[in-house]
Amino acid sequence: MRNILIVGALLVCFSAAAQPRKMAVTIDDLPFMVAGHPQYLPNAQRVTKELMRVLRAHQVPAIGFVNERQLQVTGEMDARVALLQQWLDAGLTLGNHTYSHPDLNAVSIEQYQDDIVRGDIVLRRLMHPRTPVYFRHPMTHTGETQAKKEAIDSFLALRGYKITPHTIENSDFIYNISYVRARRGNDAAMQKKLRDSYLDFTIAATEFAEKISPQIFGREIPQTLLIHANDLNADCLDELLKRYEKRGYRFITLDEAMNDPAYQTKDTNVSRNGPTWLWRWMKSKGMNVSFKDDPELPGWVMDLYRQN
Ligand SMILES: [Zn+2]
Repeated sequence: MRNILIVGALLVCFSAAAQPRKMAVTIDDLPFMVAGHPQYLPNAQRVTKELMRVLRAHQVPAIGFVNERQLQVTGEMDARVALLQQWLDAGLTLGNHTYSHPDLNAVSIEQYQDDIVRGDIVLRRLMHPRTPVYFRHPMTHTGETQAKKEAIDSFLALRGYKITPHTIENSDFIYNISYVRARRGNDAAMQKKLRDSYLDFTIAATEFAEKISPQIFGREIPQTLLIHANDLNADCLDELLKRYEKRGYRFITLDEAMNDPAYQTKDTNVSRNGPTWLWRWMKSKGMNVSFKDDPELPGWVMDLYRQN
């Protein structure tokens, strides 16, 4: 019995070593999610510098999704564009997240198309001779009616864009609002409490994605993490990536994740919400896997967020 257990354990170790888990890291709302800061630039510069340092240290070929409206500030345009240039100089890539971050549920097809077109004017110049390939919908809302979804899908395809999915989302923007407030109030204890909870919650969300993907695809698929360019991640990403490395993750490009057969599954799910692609792919395949174990944010985190 003991020998069988040892052999079993060795096999588990071996297969984990032979097939590392894979994860693409995607970071939204570039250059910087301001979240209550009175001053954009110094905070944006701190966060960008820290994200670049950590991504480089862990060799993460991340992609950042840009809202170009953030660049259009008199007197700061060059400095704000320089933040995006840092991503490209670090060998990372950028994608279009629309110009002004509209909610597709709340605007017309034409308004949304205009926002897509205005969303890559600076990007195309910065990335030349490459062109942006990836688009991410704000709030990951992809069209609340079949007609809207199909119209935007084909508009994006015509402009050479692929829609970027995600399989892990950790409500970092909710944590970040309270985190910025604690930071500005020099409340070190609250900052630590929020960081610890955020890291634990992200790992719980990741464990769920690891557990549910074999129920949909028969195997663990590469994961795609969605986070934002904010203070919380500037201060937590190093520890988060360490925890991921301990779980056996190797960080891959979005291209590599998108080449996985699971990511070729067409998302036919129509919804006002922006659920994980694991849910969309499951529904699109006509399956009915329970997502009831998808972890929810701790109550105190939501209460704190509502006080802001
Ligand atoms: Zn966004």
